[in-house]
Amino acid sequence: MIKCRDVMDVMERIAPKRLAEDWDNPGLLVGSPDDEVRRILVCLDVREETAERAAAEDFQMIVAHHPVIFKGLKKLRTDLPDGRLLGALLRAGVAVFAAHTNLDSAEGGVNDVLAARIGLDPATVAPFGNADSLSESLGRVGKLPKPMVAKAFAEQVKKGLGAANIRFVSGGDHSVKKVGLCSGSGAEFIERAAFMGCDAYVTGDVRYHDAQRAAALGIHVIDAGHFATEQPVVEILAKRLAEEFGDKVEIVADDTARDFFEIL
Ligand SMILES: [Zn+2]
Repeated sequence: MIKCRDVMDVMERIAPKRLAEDWDNPGLLVGSPDDEVRRILVCLDVREETAERAAAEDFQMIVAHHPVIFKGLKKLRTDLPDGRLLGALLRAGVAVFAAHTNLDSAEGGVNDVLAARIGLDPATVAPFGNADSLSESLGRVGKLPKPMVAKAFAEQVKKGLGAANIRFVSGGDHSVKKVGLCSGSGAEFIERAAFMGCDAYVTGDVRYHDAQRAAALGIHVIDAGHFATEQPVVEILAKRLAEEFGDKVEIVADDTARDFFEIL
């Protein structure tokens, strides 16, 4: 048996809190560091069904990517979704820890897992860089082992992520060798990827005018969806936690979650 505190310590090594963006809310969000933990559920989102599963299957802790409390919480009304979810977690005695943008930026985190899944050569993958730091940042840039026709690369992304569908924005006739990426919602970095000389950029949550900008900049954009670009980290994170704790605790990766978007 371990305590929440032990998981928090290990997560601090895997995804140091200092890597989180200023606006983020990572860490232990529900429960106490002293809570005892025998079973941990690792998942992308804490949904109502996640809380129900945790209660039914005797999980004492959830480690999630998206923070269950994100913006300021001003009420705990159990007739509304947020309060209902938090109430269920508290009643079931389930603690919740979140590693969000710190897990995006961390080595071996969401973006590195994404880079591997879409076929970038791991030896070429480096942080995207930002104004403050070139060594740690949300996105990644890397190269394919061989140049690919843009739509063939898009197909490879779709297959690698097991995405039901992807959206492709053509930036012209050029093939793809250098690729920028940012898991989740990364359309804001399309320009940076273009200026860094990326042939293509992979992310989720791309909007119409982002696509327009990409086409004008001459960079292919592949919108593989917020869910599909992030879900692969769940299994990897569960494995890393299992390596750390051995048989002291049981760790389950949630493989039941599905994208909220369905393709009709
Ligand atoms: Zn996300």
